Amino acid sequence: MLLIHCPYCEMARPEIEFRYAGEAHIVRPADPAAASDAEWADFLYLRTNPRGTHAERWRHVHGCGRFFNGLRDTVSDRIVATWRVGEPRP
Ligand SMILES: [Zn+2]
Repeated sequence: MLLIHCPYCEMARPEIEFRYAGEAHIVRPADPAAASDAEWADFLYLRTNPRGTHAERWRHVHGCGRFFNGLRDTVSDRIVATWRVGEPRP
């Protein structure tokens, strides 16, 4: 079982308490009406999908309910760091 450390609750909990919320640090276009179709499609659908360390958003749905960021190694499926939204990436 994967244990995930919630940076708000300050404890590691089983993965069944969490929900994956996609790649971290995806920035919405400042003016969506001015974005081209390609720019909007990139925002909605294009993700990096790396082999190795991947920055992700997670939500502690069966705990505090808050979103946070995490670094997961996609090869070993281990989360190596988590941090609160707005904090710098470790
Ligand atoms: Zn929590």
